[in-house]
Amino acid sequence: MASRVIPVDPFVLVIFGGTGDLARRKILPALFRRFCDGQMEDNSAIIGAARSDLDTAAYRQMVREAIVEFGQEGGSCEAGTMEAFLETVHYVSIDARGETGWSELAGLLDKLPGEERVRAFYFSVGPSLFGDLAERLHCHGMAGSEARIVVEKPFGHDLGTAKALNKTLAQHFDESQIYRIDHYLGKETVQNLMAIRFANMLFEPLWNAQYIDHIQITVAETVGVAGREDYYDHAGAMRDMVQNHIMQLLCLIAMEPPAKFEPDAVRDEKLKVIRALEDVPAKDIVRGQYLESDDGSKPGFREHVQNPESTTESFIALKLHISNWRWAGTPFYLRTGKRLKSRTSEIAVVFKDAPHSIFGAEAGRHCNILTIVLQPNEGIELGVTIKEPGPGGMRLVDVPLDMTFSEALGPEAEFVPDAYERLIMDVIRGNQTLFMRGDEVEAAWAWTDPIIAEWGAREDTPVAYDSGSSGPVEALALMHRDGRRWREIRK
Ligand code: NAD
Repeated sequence: MASRVIPVDPFVLVIFGGTGDLARRKILPALFRRFCDGQMEDNSAIIGAARSDLDTAAYRQMVREAIVEFGQEGGSCEAGTMEAFLETVHYVSIDARGETGWSELAGLLDKLPGEERVRAFYFSVGPSLFGDLAERLHCHGMAGSEARIVVEKPFGHDLGTAKALNKTLAQHFDESQIYRIDHYLGKETVQNLMAIRFANMLFEPLWNAQYIDHIQITVAETVGVAGREDYYDHAGAMRDMVQNHIMQLLCLIAMEPPAKFEPDAVRDEKLKVIRALEDVPAKDIVRGQYLESDDGSKPGFREHVQNPESTTESFIALKLHISNWRWAGTPFYLRTGKRLKSRTSEIAVVFKDAPHSIFGAEAGRHCNILTIVLQPNEGIELGVTIKEPGPGGMRLVDVPLDMTFSEALGPEAEFVPDAYERLIMDVIRGNQTLFMRGDEVEAAWAWTDPIIAEWGAREDTPVAYDSGSSGPVEALALMHRDGRRWREIRK
């Protein structure tokens, strides 16, 4: 079954930071794929806007190289498509903090021929420039009520800075025009999570503390902090991953069913989850820093950030509770870290054991686990307990129920579009469901800030863990003492 591609309205997308890493690795290849699939038509336009002194021809060459280097396999591009795509691409050299380039950009936007287009501005620059861009778009008459802005993470460093940024953006743009991007929400499986929960009768009646023992969310990376040393040493895993990506996953897993799949209905429910998070005591948090690799080829965290006294965490594991009727008594265990044994992101919903085993103690303990894998291979797996085949008595074994969607949907379902493809198209469609609202971001910081402040107050120092491991042993103990264990970080 091929997925239907419905072209979006003609648009102009201005990418501030159009020469940067994110634009080259993600945004431009994503647009190219949407172009190949016919979703972006050739009467749309892309304008790269950055500090580099380039002309449009040189920028098109850069875009071509980025697509060759970072474009995904699996497209349906025909010969000549690249040339047609590059025809839609333009460039303006601009300074977010000065006057250079702004009149040219406004002129180019007015000059582009054709009918009315959706106008979107992607802020793919450092967060310190978000306010400048909003201000200048306004001053140069480009912040009309139809304009949309896409704001990258990090959205603030704490509650105070997030509030200040929301306030600055709100001076020039209505909340309905602001798309705070979290690319985790654009992942196919994350959206499938909502379909599984809310379009099936099977899971939702069990989706509560009565039947679910606990939920684990793991986001493991193999990379260290290379290339982002300074940022990371001021952020750490809590700010970089937990406050945004993991928080969003937690919200989708834990929220009540919204009345409709509409932006504010979904975001209202997510906000309620964040506001119901309990404070986390220090004993339920483990922070770690990776050590140098065994062969000495990769430096430890402190050498990496060139700060021998750094107390920033490159790993965090924590146990939290959500204070509401649905979840009272079911803990959520979250962990994320760098330089771990593999690149894996998954959510595991671990159901309670059957209340009584008719098969006796020798059959062992078994429970069902629903695993939502976000990376490396997006998919969903349900562990079911069955009889071990064979003549020897009633022995039980856990097997994964095959939930490979390609079996049912055909080989086209094997191609999973990149999160940025979906999210950028949603911006053009004007659908904010998968973007964070300002109050959500602030609520997440309001929960995060006191935890971080407490580390500072007692001068907490992260524990060390081996590069290529599953994290510090203390993180294992966090679950062991509750009689539970982390799932293996899969290769
Ligand atoms: P980068 O340093 O590679 O690129 C920065 C871009 O901003 C360049 O195009 C540069 O020309 C432009 N720029 C810098 N100062 C400017 C100015 N005064 N006026 C106009 N343009 C200016 O950064 P990046 O990695 O592409 O990241 C961009 C944003 O996206 C950041 O907020 C980052 O946190 C966020 N982000 C990046 C990634 C990633 O994988 N790279 C992932 C998630 C979020």
